[in-house]
Amino acid sequence: MLDDDDDLQNKVIKCKECSRLIRYIESIGQAKVKRFTNENYWAKPIPGYGDPKATLLIIGLAPAAHGGNRTGRIFTGDSSGDWLAKALFETGFANQPMSISKNDGYALKDAYVTAVVKCAPPQNIPTPSEITNCSQYLQTEIKLLESTTKVIVTLGKIAFDNYCKSVGMKRLIFGHNAIYKLKGGKTLISSYHPSRRNTNTKTLTWEMWMEVFKTAKNIIKSSDNY
Ligand code: SF4
Repeated sequence: MLDDDDDLQNKVIKCKECSRLIRYIESIGQAKVKRFTNENYWAKPIPGYGDPKATLLIIGLAPAAHGGNRTGRIFTGDSSGDWLAKALFETGFANQPMSISKNDGYALKDAYVTAVVKCAPPQNIPTPSEITNCSQYLQTEIKLLESTTKVIVTLGKIAFDNYCKSVGMKRLIFGHNAIYKLKGGKTLISSYHPSRRNTNTKTLTWEMWMEVFKTAKNIIKSSDNY
């Protein structure tokens, strides 16, 4: 756990600041979908998780309605989570290639995963005010990991823009595998989001996706040698 992370986790889980999102995630937890009809949905906000000394910080958009909102762990139990878990395993940041539930033994090593918005939004689109409401938590996570983070990978343009805003950077241009050197020796890599829309249309291929994590790994490794 991050230092002070218990407090942060509790705050996030109990947060009710965005009434539209809270209503939505609770209603999804009641309605469910046929394939998960026998499961108890988490249906609450979801904090980030991972290694308290992470060198790699990964920031996505938000939990998925029937993924994280069901399992209670971000990027767990949906196709985006499958892509992320496999890539992190193949680059040595995770102990197994699958992440399907909170109790599946999946663990991150040197990596921490979170999202701009901690509640699943309808159509995967949070409003600007919901993003603003939730930015306090992302900023806390960034601060708690400040001393160890070497590479930040943002998934999708909203995550990229909000990370830049959180750390006061302007005029950086979003692109896939675009690499920016930041103050303090950190590196920012922007990636397309591994959403079904991007992967099914081959906007994001597996090779393109792995390139991001291989780049991150190499940067971290080379900085270890100094
Ligand atoms: S999106 Fe963030 S600020 Fe809004 S209710 Fe969920 S946890 Fe709270």
